[in-house]
Amino acid sequence: MSAPDGTSLPGVVIGVDVGGTTARAARVDALGRIAARRAFPSHAEGMSVPADAAFERFMSRLVGAIRELRGDGAGATESCVVGIAVPGPVDATTGAVRRCTNLSFLNERTPGAVIAARTGAEVVLMTDIGAAGRAEQAAIGAGSASFGHLRFGTGIGYVEFDGPTPVELLRDGDAHLDVLRAGRAFTQRCACGLSGCLEAYLPSSRQDEESANWTAETAAAFDSVVFRLRRRLGGQGVLVIGGGRAVGDRRLAQRIEGLAAEGETPGVARVRRAECGDDAGVLGAASAACGMVERRRARS
Ligand SMILES: [Zn+2]
Repeated sequence: MSAPDGTSLPGVVIGVDVGGTTARAARVDALGRIAARRAFPSHAEGMSVPADAAFERFMSRLVGAIRELRGDGAGATESCVVGIAVPGPVDATTGAVRRCTNLSFLNERTPGAVIAARTGAEVVLMTDIGAAGRAEQAAIGAGSASFGHLRFGTGIGYVEFDGPTPVELLRDGDAHLDVLRAGRAFTQRCACGLSGCLEAYLPSSRQDEESANWTAETAAAFDSVVFRLRRRLGGQGVLVIGGGRAVGDRRLAQRIEGLAAEGETPGVARVRRAECGDDAGVLGAASAACGMVERRRARS
């Protein structure tokens, strides 16, 4: 398994992508390919389950999946690195999950520390959009350029890297990122409290059959946000657009296809379709965890 900077770590590398209903875990081989998979329900299966019980059930399932993927029982002594991607922001200092709307039992808890204590693995916790961005960046080989990944999944996410380094993006508290707002001309109120967010024009509650109902304003908001991102990234940059809705929403898929077909435009990043599909989360979590563990070891 290669870290983003091209170094490689010995031992077992596992990526985990915690989705709103299913958690997917995979052992990733030295070439970055998936060697084995496990999946289990991530949700609490009933609103009445107390957060402590839901968290404990989730942790024991995750520990079980990691042990199976590592091949415990056969005298496993290899070192193990686990990257865990969660659908919400993570406090980089404390390792606490700040806000997972769909999995609230994770909020303010530190699943990474729990997994490390129970499995002996080195664990790195990250946001799902950050993990997916890493995987897409590695897939197109854009390691040295300005790279952005816009993802239409449960919600709309964006992450940016300057080569291997994540770029800090502005946001007002827990509202949507500033770069995901379409501009002053766009005034539709968003659930986050701001107005003009792309999310307000393309909410994740939209059903697939509604995709034919793109208004001129929906298209304009999408075009405005994408153009601003391309200008931010500059002429040497790449903007990769993906996520489940980028395939499932026909109008969105057509629009991305059109942008990708444009090729190079002076002064703005080119657009490419995402390549990793549903595996982006597990692959990116594994790759990012390797990079972080490598840097940790280099410092100590
Ligand atoms: Zn918003």
